[in-house]
Formats: sequence, C-alpha cells, structure tokens
Amino acid sequence: MTISIHGISVSRGITIGRAVLVASSRMDVAHYFIEPDQVDAEIDRARRGRDTVVAEISRLQHTVSQLGPKDAPQELRAMLDVHLMLLDDQEVIEGVKHWIRDRLYNAEWAITSQLEAIARQFDEMEDAYLRERKADMEQITEKVLRAMKGLPATALANAQHFQNEAKALDLSPNLAGRRRTKAKEPNADIRLGDTDVPLVLVAHELSPADMLQFKQSVFTGFVTDVGGKTSHTAIVARSMDIPAVVGARTASLLVRQDDWIIIDGDAGVVIVDPSPIILAEYNYKQRQLELERGRLARLLTTPSLTLDGHKVELLANIEMPADAPLALEAGAQGVGLFRSEFLFMGRHGADLPDEEEQYLAYRHAVEGMKGLPVTIRTVDVGADKSMDGAIQDQGHLNPALGLRAIRWSLADPDMFVSQLRAIYRAAAHGPVKMMIPMLAHLSEIRQTLTLVEQARAQLHSEGVPYGQLEIGAMIEIPAAVLIVHTFLRHFDFLSLGTNDLIQYTLAIDRTDESVAHLYDPMHPAVLRLLADTIAAARQSGKPVSVCGEMAGDITMTRLLLGLGLRCFSMHPAQILAVKQEVLRADTRKLEPWALQVLASEEPANFLLQ
Ligand code: PEP
Ligand code: MG
Repeated sequence: MTISIHGISVSRGITIGRAVLVASSRMDVAHYFIEPDQVDAEIDRARRGRDTVVAEISRLQHTVSQLGPKDAPQELRAMLDVHLMLLDDQEVIEGVKHWIRDRLYNAEWAITSQLEAIARQFDEMEDAYLRERKADMEQITEKVLRAMKGLPATALANAQHFQNEAKALDLSPNLAGRRRTKAKEPNADIRLGDTDVPLVLVAHELSPADMLQFKQSVFTGFVTDVGGKTSHTAIVARSMDIPAVVGARTASLLVRQDDWIIIDGDAGVVIVDPSPIILAEYNYKQRQLELERGRLARLLTTPSLTLDGHKVELLANIEMPADAPLALEAGAQGVGLFRSEFLFMGRHGADLPDEEEQYLAYRHAVEGMKGLPVTIRTVDVGADKSMDGAIQDQGHLNPALGLRAIRWSLADPDMFVSQLRAIYRAAAHGPVKMMIPMLAHLSEIRQTLTLVEQARAQLHSEGVPYGQLEIGAMIEIPAAVLIVHTFLRHFDFLSLGTNDLIQYTLAIDRTDESVAHLYDPMHPAVLRLLADTIAAARQSGKPVSVCGEMAGDITMTRLLLGLGLRCFSMHPAQILAVKQEVLRADTRKLEPWALQVLASEEPANFLLQ
C-alpha cells in the first residue's frame, strides 16, 4: 500500500530507490558494504556470533535447571526457551544470509535489518503474546551483536541480571514508545557495494558527522525522523546535492527495510511503496529536473551581474578541503564559509587535529581554489555539532546557548591559537580570510583579536612563513546587530549567519522539527536585523555577505539584493540557480520594493508577487 509521509524539504530533487534503514538497534552498529568474495566469511562471522549466544543461553538454561522456582522463576525459563527457539529459526537465519549475500551488507547490518523485518511481522500479529515476542527478538539481536563485538555476556551471567536488563532496556512492545539510538558508526565504514539498485537512507536521526561520512557513500537520498531545515545534518545533506527530507517524524517506523521509496526533496514528501502511476509521474518529474539542471549549466561562465550592471559575488560554503574542486566546478568565485569544525568532529583529546594537520587541510582547500579567496571560519562546535559525533550535546540543558563556537575557542586558548597559526600559515599559499562565529561581546572581540595577534607574532618571531589575513566577524546573534558599529570598527568584513540569527532572534531551536513551522526567515524582525547590518556595513565601506542557508534560497535572492546585499555564500549546488535570479534582477526596482517589504507586517506576502 502506498503511504505518503510529510517532512521538511532539505535538499531539492527526486530520487527513487530502495530503503536502507539504520538506527534500529540499541547497539551502535557499523554499516558497510562488503565485497562479493567476502560473503562466506561474513556469513560465518554472523554464525559465530549466534553460536556464542546459543552456547551462553544453553549454559544458563543448565544453571537455571539446578535452581528452585524461587530463584529462577518460570518466566525466565520460558524466556530462555523462546530465545533459543528464535536463534534457531530458519526465517531469521536465512534472512540474515539474504542481506549479506544479496545486498552485500556487513554481518551486523544484516542482523539488524532482519530484526527490523521480523519486528514488523510481530507488530502485525493479532495475538498479544506473539506481538510481545518482538522484545525477545530485540534482545537476542542485541546479544548476538555484543558477542560479535567480543563483549562479555554480562546479561546472561545470572538470572537476576537478566531480569534487570529486560527492565532497563524498556522492552515495551509499543513501537511508538520504543527508545531508539542512532547508528553511530555507519559513517566509519560505508563503502560502495556493487549493487546497481539506488539506495536511500532512512534513519531516526543522524549526526552531522555521520552525514559528512555519507558524502562518500552510495546513497541517493536521505530521510530522517527528526531535524529542522537548518540543522547541521540538513546542511551537510544539502551540500551533497541529493534529495533529502528531515523531520519526517515516523518515517523510520513506517518504512521497511528494502521498501521502494520516492523522496521528493522539493515538496518534502516521502512516498513509500509507490503505485505504478505515481512512479511514472515521478519518473517524468525527474526527467524535467534533469532538463532544468542542463539549462542552468549553461550559465556557468556567465558573469554574475544584475540587469542594471551590479556585480554580485557568489561564493561556496564547504565542509572539507576536498569540497574545493566541487565549488570551482559549480562556478563559485571563492569560498565564503569553510566550516572548519568538520575537521574536529568525532575526534577527542589527543586525537584532535593539531596545528600541522589543520595547516595541511586549510592549505589543501586554498590550493584547491586556485587563487580564489577562501574564508575559513574558526571552529564552531557545540549544540548540534558535538565533538564526539553524538547528535546533540546532551550534557547541558540549552546547548545552543552554551559553550559553542568562539566561546569554546576562548575557553581553550592553546587550541585556538594553534588553529589561528594554522590559518595564518595556510594564507602563505593563497588568499585567505578568517572569520569568527557567534561573537556578541566586546570583551570576546578583544580577546579574540589579542589571540589572533599573538598567533601571528609567534609565527613571525619563529620565522615560520605566513600570509596576511582579512579578519571578519559572523553576525548571528541579535545583540551583534544592535552593536554592529562596534563590530565594524574591529573587523574587516561581516558575514551574516542567518541560520543562527533566525534561531536566536525567534527563540526557535533550528534542529527541532516540532517548532520548524515557526522558524521563519521572513519574520519582520529577522528582515530588520538583516537590513540594518547590510546598511551599516555598506555605509562604513566594509564588505558584508550572507552565508546562512538563506543565501542559497532562490525565493530570497531578490529581497536580499533589494536590501543591498552583493555577496552570497551557499552550497555549491545552488550557485547557478541563484545566478539565474541575479541575472533577472534589477536593483533599481528591487530597492524600493524591499523598503515596502521591510515596512510590512506580513513580508512573506511580497514573495508571492
Ligand atoms: C549560520 O548560522 O547561518 C551559519 C552559516 O553558521 P552555521 O550554520 O554553521 O551555524
Ligand atoms: Mg552559525
């Protein structure tokens, strides 16, 4: 039966493929494709995991048989019987082999996929007793995965522990109440399988670090249950230029492993098990989009000028140095935002990138841009970009208001100075600008600039080659707009981080799909802050850009031009579409129109014109 699931559109386009579900196990599970000649060895690995658990349960059965009913209740004996029966079930065993043999999934992924498939069957059962066997299935899956990791079978060590664990794991048969954890390691191991079927990833949630790793993967689209349009997971998905939908709430529960699904990234819709008529319609739409891309490609070398002759700079946002060639291919005139924190994610303590590693990475990006400027943003970890690769900083009540971005850097001056040194050194290889995220206080500005000067002076006195840097500030907190003249006195340029500026102006968590409808770039207060910043920068003769997602949103291009913006930094995939808008724009008409929009209580109505 065809089902439509509505979420939030993150990345445009349409993809049709088979669903790959992750995040179904409470254990962190690696997901990767094996080579065809590894199939037998992988089946063997799964078998050894199962055999270990069978042996443990049999041992426990024996122990229990020696105890009286008080020490070993009847339920426990029944549970052990059921577990052994499930471990022996041919459907389970053959299912796991199928995922390994036919889909080239690694053993752990195959096991969780089979769990998912069987759990659905249990859910559909009328009989409550049988329905609850899903919990047993989940338990044995967990135990096999633990055994494969070589973890001690603590849960099977004694009956008491066994019962406690069942409680602690919250093995409710109710799917809606089921606790889910993200698949933490899919990132580490995704490799190309040699299957031709397009694969679409469906997950409850993914961290930005996971998403980044998926950049090299085979997936042609993404769906997650949670997340907002400008969450960093969504931003990385968008940079991959493949259709993605976030905030699809129940998608990972409704979609089954291997279902055919369509992701309509434009409408933010996921269609599960499409009928032939729907499929034909989407095949047609897909062809239309291809034609549109072809038409845009012709603008690649067209200068980015408005009808009335204003030059508009179109820059790229990148996450890794390897993105630089893509930015060039897309026609970027430079990098307006290199999110350096992606070098740090998933790394801890001594494993954090040191000055040398950072220098090489920044240099790689600079050289990749072949003489065009690269704006490196100093590290912005925290909130939804936690260092340990988790989805969110769970340790603090309001991580988006906590130790994030420049606050984090200033809290660890040694680490910050080594980043600043690395950036200065990279500047010896081409034009580099540096910008600082999330500044709000004059004291932070002073501390930052003192450390910047300290880094430069150190290099100078050590005789280490370095280049000149323009230093800019991101404007992403309303307080910064209100003291924008202070910022302009201290910095060479400004860049509006509208993703955060909207979040902090409207008090809307940008990662929370439940308030995503209130995350409004057209809110009059947001527009007023943008207008004031752009006007102040222009008056003082200093460059100002927008590097938030708004810059790549073609419905906003004319308004931003009307507000006086002449520099946009966005995902490379959006550059040509924005250029098309620029080429059609006449700022002589847009400027008075923008004033009207600013004066309106309902500016969004103007976009409909
Ligand atoms: C922004 O906030 O708009 C921005 C560009 O920075 P980030 O999305 O990385 O927070
Ligand atoms: Mg930001």
